[in-house]
Order: sequence, then structure tokens, then C-alpha cells
Amino acid sequence: MIAVRGGSSPAAGEPNWIARREEGAVSANLSPEPCPSCGQIGAREWLRGPDRFHGRHEKYTLVRCPACSLVWLSGPPKPAEMHLHYTGAYHKLISAAGENSPVRWEDRKAALAPYKQAGTLLDLGCSSGSFLEFMGNKPWKLYGIEMSAESARAAEERSKAQVFVGDILDAPFAREFFDAITCFDVLEHLYEPRRVMARVGEWLKPGGIFYVLVPNVDSAEAHVFGSYWHGLELPRHLFHYSPASLKFLAESAGLREVSLETRRNSAVGTSLRYVWDDVFRSVGIQRPPVAYCGEASLPWRAARKLVRLTVLRGLLTVAPLVGEGESIHAIFRKEETSA
Ligand SMILES: [Zn+2]
Repeated sequence: MIAVRGGSSPAAGEPNWIARREEGAVSANLSPEPCPSCGQIGAREWLRGPDRFHGRHEKYTLVRCPACSLVWLSGPPKPAEMHLHYTGAYHKLISAAGENSPVRWEDRKAALAPYKQAGTLLDLGCSSGSFLEFMGNKPWKLYGIEMSAESARAAEERSKAQVFVGDILDAPFAREFFDAITCFDVLEHLYEPRRVMARVGEWLKPGGIFYVLVPNVDSAEAHVFGSYWHGLELPRHLFHYSPASLKFLAESAGLREVSLETRRNSAVGTSLRYVWDDVFRSVGIQRPPVAYCGEASLPWRAARKLVRLTVLRGLLTVAPLVGEGESIHAIFRKEETSA
């Protein structure tokens, strides 16, 4: 489970811009919301889409900053309502992905190793602690932050980490305490990423490392699939980063890029599934949404494999022409001289 900010949203206290738009005060595709990262005004509508994972129909609007390229969910659900969008089916999917991926933890440990191999390590949104357990409490003194008390207890038991239960911004860690902070598939869920990034900058020792992983909104798949791209996760993902907007946000907290790369992953089948769901719906066939469907039948699996081998292979051949990999893996270092 990820940590979501219980406080105000970026738009809190602002007039409802959609209502103002309907009154004709602003143009149809121009948002008066300043960019929550760089403060630039003039964000424009980028796309609209529903929560395809749950098969819901309410449309959400994403807007994009013309300066730093950050994309965000305009008028997001209130924090008190967000539990309606984090269903049991969603948590099941996330925890299955975390528990069944020792290779993934091996990759991340290897990515961190050139910069830090021991010291104090904090994992933001540590879930049930499988990454912390993998890192081990011999070379590392382990810490986590987790919203779910149940997951936090599991993390403490398995990894011997100290886990703060609650919001990242409420965690009481001392300044310049950590050698490394990790944040995997969490930053995009947070209401106040700029404040969280500032906190990361405070908590890191000078020379400390921040390793963050987010979906890439400028990836080939995001461009090819549009509102069908599974990485949108509307409305659970409140912010959508490009390499440029992630770097800008980190630099605003006194962090400097050490390494930033994009990688492809194999979840493209989910985006395809969303496309097919709409195709079937258009001819009157309702299929259970991804959240509630079991293992696909044999004919369906065979059809999907055929699509992967034909259409997808073609798409991925031209992918470098339209964008990069769909995950951003970035490592930043806190400047030695920063306050
Ligand atoms: Zn911006």
C-alpha cells in the first residue's frame, strides 16, 4: 500500500476551475491551476480518461505544464474519498507484484550499489517490506514509511526495519540522517510531491542518494495507447512524470542527477486489454474489468499472444520514434554543499 497525503490537494483552496470554465471565464482547454512543481501557469488539457482497471466510467482530466512538462490530475478526488479508488482488488495486484519479484529487488540493489552499499536506508511506501528484507539488516540500518499499519507490522517482522506508520510528511526523522532513500512506484500517488521531495532533501546526508522509480508519461506506450495506457492508473496516480519533470522536481530539492534511464516492461498486455474492453463494449459485449477477472481462458490467452507477436512487435519496432521506455529509474545525489 502506498502512502497518500492526508492533507490538502494542490488545488485546495482554489476555485473549481471546471465550474469557472463552464461560466466561460477561461478557454476550454486552459487550466488556471499553476504547476504544482514549477509554478508556471497556462497548463493545458492533455487527455481525459476513466478508471479502466475497475471498469468505471467517470472521466478524469489530466493537464500538462508547458514549462517543466509535469502532467497532473486536475480536480483529484479528496484524500478522504481516495479509499474508494484503492480497492481490495487493487491491493491484491500490487502486493502480488511486490512479493513475486526477487529479480526486481536484485536489479534495484545492483543499481544502488555503485553509490551506496551500507548505512541508513529509508524506503518510502515500503508496503510489506520485501525490498527492505532483500537489502538485509547487516550492511544497512533499515527504515520504512507505510500508511497501512498491517503492512508496516509485516515489514518490521520480516526485515527488522523500523517502520513509521502514516504520512511521509508526518514522519519524525532527523535532518541529514539517511545515506539512501528509495521510492518505488509511490511518488505518482502522492498529493504533494514537491513537499515530499523537499523532505527527502532534508533527510539525506550530504552526498546521500535518492533512488526513485515512476512510470514515464513520455514513453512510447503512453503515446501509442493514450488514455488506454495502463500506467495512467486514474485516479490513483495524481502526477505523471517525464524524465525532464522528474529531474526538475528533484533539483528543486537540492538533488542532482547521477543516473536517469528509461526501461521497457512487460505490462503492455494490460493496455491492450483496455483497448479490447472498449472494442467489445462498442459491439454490446460487457467483459469483467481487469480488477475482477480471473485467469484468462485458453483461446483468449492464445489470441493475446498472437497480438503480442504481430501488432505489438510492430509497434515496439517503431517505439524509439515516439518515445522511450515506460519506467523511469532515476538516481539523484544530495549536493555535498547544500544546507
Ligand atoms: Zn511545471
